[in-house]
Amino acid sequence: MTFVSFRWSAGARCLRVLAVCCLLAFLGVAAHAQTPGGSATPAGDKGVLVLLSSGFGQRGIDNYVKGLHGVLNDKGLPYTRIHIEYLDLVKNSGNDYLEQLGTLLARKYPDTRIGVVVSVQSAALNFLLKEGAQIAPGAPILVAQARIPTNATQSGRQFFTQTSTPSYSGTLQRALELFPNTRNVVFLNGTSPVEAERKREATAQFAPWEGKLNFEYVDQLSMDEIERKLTATPANTVIIAPGINRDSKGQAFVPVDTIVKIAKTANAPVFPVYSVSVGLGAVGGMVSVLEDEGKAMAFAVLAWLERKPDATEPFQVQPAKPVALFDWAQLERWDADPDQLPKDSIFLNRPPSLWGQYKTYVIAGALTTVALMALVIALALQNRRRLLAERSLQDSQKQYRLLADHMDDVLWVMNMDTGQWDYCSPSMEKLVGYSVKEVTQRSFVYLMDDDVREDLLQRNQERLKEQKAHPDASVPYTDTVPLNRSDGTKVWAESVTHYVRNEKAELTLIGVTRDVTQRVNAQQEINQLAYYDVLTHLPNRKNLHDRIQHARDTGARDNSTGALLYIDLDHFKTLNDTRGHAAGDQLLRQAAQRLTASVRTADTVARLGGDEFVVLLERLDGEVDRAAAEAKAVASKILATFREDFFIDGQDHRITTSIGIALIRGNADSADELLKQADMAMYRSKSSGRNSVSFFDPQMQASVSARAALESDLRKALQAGNFVLAYQPQVDAGRYVTGAEALIRWQHPERGLVSPAEFIGVAEDTGLILPIGEWVLETACRQLAQWATSPASSHLTLAVNVSPRQFKQDDFVDTVQQTLQRTGASAHRLKLELTESMLVDNFDTTVTRMKQLQSLGVGFALDDFGTGYSSLAYLKRLPLDQLKIDKSFIDDVLTDANDASIARTIVALGQTLGLQVVAEGVETAGQRDFLADIGCVAYQGYFFSKPLSAQAFADFLAVQA
Ligand code: C2E
Ligand code: MG
Ligand code: MG
Repeated sequence: MTFVSFRWSAGARCLRVLAVCCLLAFLGVAAHAQTPGGSATPAGDKGVLVLLSSGFGQRGIDNYVKGLHGVLNDKGLPYTRIHIEYLDLVKNSGNDYLEQLGTLLARKYPDTRIGVVVSVQSAALNFLLKEGAQIAPGAPILVAQARIPTNATQSGRQFFTQTSTPSYSGTLQRALELFPNTRNVVFLNGTSPVEAERKREATAQFAPWEGKLNFEYVDQLSMDEIERKLTATPANTVIIAPGINRDSKGQAFVPVDTIVKIAKTANAPVFPVYSVSVGLGAVGGMVSVLEDEGKAMAFAVLAWLERKPDATEPFQVQPAKPVALFDWAQLERWDADPDQLPKDSIFLNRPPSLWGQYKTYVIAGALTTVALMALVIALALQNRRRLLAERSLQDSQKQYRLLADHMDDVLWVMNMDTGQWDYCSPSMEKLVGYSVKEVTQRSFVYLMDDDVREDLLQRNQERLKEQKAHPDASVPYTDTVPLNRSDGTKVWAESVTHYVRNEKAELTLIGVTRDVTQRVNAQQEINQLAYYDVLTHLPNRKNLHDRIQHARDTGARDNSTGALLYIDLDHFKTLNDTRGHAAGDQLLRQAAQRLTASVRTADTVARLGGDEFVVLLERLDGEVDRAAAEAKAVASKILATFREDFFIDGQDHRITTSIGIALIRGNADSADELLKQADMAMYRSKSSGRNSVSFFDPQMQASVSARAALESDLRKALQAGNFVLAYQPQVDAGRYVTGAEALIRWQHPERGLVSPAEFIGVAEDTGLILPIGEWVLETACRQLAQWATSPASSHLTLAVNVSPRQFKQDDFVDTVQQTLQRTGASAHRLKLELTESMLVDNFDTTVTRMKQLQSLGVGFALDDFGTGYSSLAYLKRLPLDQLKIDKSFIDDVLTDANDASIARTIVALGQTLGLQVVAEGVETAGQRDFLADIGCVAYQGYFFSKPLSAQAFADFLAVQA
């Protein structure tokens, strides 16, 4: 059975209760409130002995036993404690039998087994008193259906009677109610002592009717006589019959049988006093139900078994109440009116009425109908409520539709679990030119340029992650992005989105998107005005200011230098005055373009106003001199670009610029200060005749000028052949010259010999190192070839310094090879000195190149070892022959423990790697001895010889020889 589930209102609750009751009734479930008595099983192990006068099969006694045993059993008295003995004394009344029975039972039931004895009917009691002294002698006797003889107490036992006198008067009363014309009452009885007793009791109970009715006690006849007599009783007679045990002839009967027999033949209605006879021919009456008596006795037994030995309260055996019981068939037979009987009367054999037969079905049917009606009503109510709710939903949906359809803003809902659009309002079409279907079939993000889309998708992913991490937090997100409309134009769309869960608990993104193009354009315009120069569209002063701040911070962070180039157009005012402002504006615009073209895209060109421009250079070299040179180079480029004529209003115009440079080092100086410095430098350029570049820092100015001079001098020196090589001897432990290092010298026409320390850096920066390097290599090789011709010098090696820029040239290997061939020098005598800094980038190329040279026979020394990025990893992989301990360690090797241990380590390292170690700059014997002590046996330094000219070197060799 399926129930429609719906919500119950308070009013529907009673219907529900009713429906449930009906259902229960329909299913035939009855609630029986039958609670069994709560007393526990009597403790101990003694039981009850029931002595029955009769044998088995006497219906009345059997019912008594049934009631008695049933209760004992129900209350948990186990089988081992219930003993029932059918003494069968009517059939066996001989003294021998009684005696032997007494002995047997005495054996069978000692005190230890029996706590209480029940004796039913007088035969059993008499037997007990006569022969049963030893049967559970300590147990009391509960007597049923017998009178206790007066001499019984002599036995020393306790006796309790179940006074179960039948209600003779009650039965007579009922008989009179049914047969109000009754005149004669026959009391049918036998001859046994029990029956004599009954007669006495009946007589007593009939006393109220004495004189009004005729009572006849039939108790001294044989069964046959009785039968005969009762077939012919006078009219208006009723027979009251407890049943006959024994007739006048001494014949024993089962009393019920006698009643059945008489009821059949008698010509008057028979009223028994025990329930067993009702339904077998007798009419009925206030009958004793022997089963009830048995039950009452059982409770007394249990009470006794539980009774404490020292209990003093009086003990009683309760009788059972008589019941008004009638046989409907007999009432009809005797034409009696049952309505005269008490309402609580019970009828046997009553034919059921139509109502009685179908009552259950009718009630169940009615209840079911009511339940179904209740269900129908409830469903109808529910349905009505749903209809109302649906109507209200439809109404509100209409309102939403109205809003969504007529709003310029686009409302949309996207299911994040499925990635599908659930809804998008029609105004989408107005926004992007595509239909809602077109937009929702693809994705909204396809309306965006790649970078915009990437950016938005990434943001969305982060938000989604955030949302999943904090499902309860719901924050709105705003995105403003340009979308490509179907007509190719751009529209700026601002979306406010929100993650929510829909009714299926799916994660949903809801959003409102609107066209904000006007606002964005206005914003951009404002921005442009605020940060850009209207005439040239270059960043304005304010913008520049921000960028300078930024440059200061990045410079400080990555240890780079920046520069400000303050650029002023020379004699701009003249142009303005002579050819008008429009011409001036044209020039400014063109100047802006030329400036922008002369710098890297990362650099900034700004216009401060008038004819003043500023170029901001970032990420120049960390070393100030070099940075200054770089800035200078840019400035020179700018001067050069202005050398070309401008074309203004169809006429050529020539203009120069004055440039002032201030370097940005860290963030010590503020943006304003830096601008002021560059401005001041610019004025210096102006005052020095314009079309020139000046530095704010005079020292820097000098250094830049010097560098510039040096550069031009170097070029001249190269052409004029003003370089010479000096040769510094390299000796072994025994001061024996093993080779030399070639060191360049510049023979300056005015300054004399100039040290390479002064010009190698500039040569490196300007690229002049390449021709210089080639000259050195050529000269050195020639010297080697010359040494080879003399036995005194043919063993010498010559070390040549190679600059990083030189070594990086793709044709370096070829150059070396060609030089060796051209000069005829032996590659095995040539040693190239590299520095660690060279190895840092492009390590693999360096190794390849070294190996190519090595295959020619060329050797390698690692110069200035210990000052750079010494790393075992690269040392192992390089095809080196020699490590040169830098002079700086040798200088203090005797005084500084640190330097000493570095020297020691380098020597050990050389030994491990199988490399020769040469100490550079050895100036004293002490240094030499220390080095010799730690195992360094190759030296170069003033202690042995300063760098010498070729001739002097030859002399040095000769002296040594
Ligand atoms: P370097 O290669 O380390 O050369 C050793 C320098 O130490 C030389 O300076 C040499 O004169 C100096 N020196 C040697 N022994 C002593 C000493 O006992 N006391 C003192 N105070 N100095 C000593 P120099 O000749 O001035 O060269 C300086 C640097 O210039 C060289 O250092 C080298 O890096 C570079 N250089 C020299 N010639 C060339 C060249 O032809 N090409 C290249 N690329 N660089 C060169
Ligand atoms: Mg060197
Ligand atoms: Mg060196």
